[in-house]
Amino acid sequence: MADMKTDIHPVYHAKTKVVCGCGNEFEIGSTVEDIRVELCSNCHPFYTGKQNLIDTSGRVERFEKIMKATGDKTERSGKKAKTAKRTKQKADKKGAKAVKLHEA
Ligand SMILES: [Zn+2]
Repeated sequence: MADMKTDIHPVYHAKTKVVCGCGNEFEIGSTVEDIRVELCSNCHPFYTGKQNLIDTSGRVERFEKIMKATGDKTERSGKKAKTAKRTKQKADKKGAKAVKLHEA
């Protein structure tokens, strides 16, 4: 510490109080006196193993509902597309025959 330059280092607080949104409090060393965080090792899903922050408004459920509805539609349009394809194939065959006749 004796070799440190003077007047360029911030004040070091050895006991900075960290307050988390979950109510957890702990002390760390910092240059700031008070720290407020939204996540800590006490409440982060990684540590708790719980996914308590995800899908609180049922968004996944809503998405799955939409996907189900869209899936039904896709199946219907898929059938239509198949029929359209078959019709086109028939037309192509006819066209090919016509070309062949023309060639001969
Ligand atoms: Zn927390």
